[in-house]
Amino acid sequence: MPDLVTHAFAAYLIIRWWQNPAHRAVFYLGTFLPDLLSRPIYILFPQLNLYTVALHTPITALIACLLLAEFFAAERGKIRWLLCGGAALHYFLDLMQRHLDNGYFWGFPLTWKSGELGWFWPETPLRLIWLWLLGMAMIEVIIALRRRQGRVRREPAPQQGDSSPADRG
Ligand SMILES: [Zn+2]
Repeated sequence: MPDLVTHAFAAYLIIRWWQNPAHRAVFYLGTFLPDLLSRPIYILFPQLNLYTVALHTPITALIACLLLAEFFAAERGKIRWLLCGGAALHYFLDLMQRHLDNGYFWGFPLTWKSGELGWFWPETPLRLIWLWLLGMAMIEVIIALRRRQGRVRREPAPQQGDSSPADRG
């Protein structure tokens, strides 16, 4: 799996432009969800790896997303799509990497076949974290500067004859 910063950066590029910050947070949750469901158990119980590989599969993420969306009565449909979209983005990045042994089991429980595009090793994105963070910082600076320029342009220019009572003395 790419690291969580890399997953976050990919999610950031897609969801940053969405107006509602709560919806953005839900998309991030969806993008982290496959690893949140599986990694703690891999780390705590590595000897159970053969039994827990199913936790990092699209079907498990889909079930988790649908269950989680049930907690959001007001916008359940939108939350479902945001969670599932975030999880789909996660798997899209995972699909690109390469493994020494089996990759992820995309079709579990229908098949134990695994496949991947093999474009990079899992540690490759780790070396590029600085680039993702720099990219996010630059985008935020550009957005802040554009907002500031927009605010300056919208303020009406002072007209002649407009003076405060203090100026009139
Ligand atoms: Zn993953």
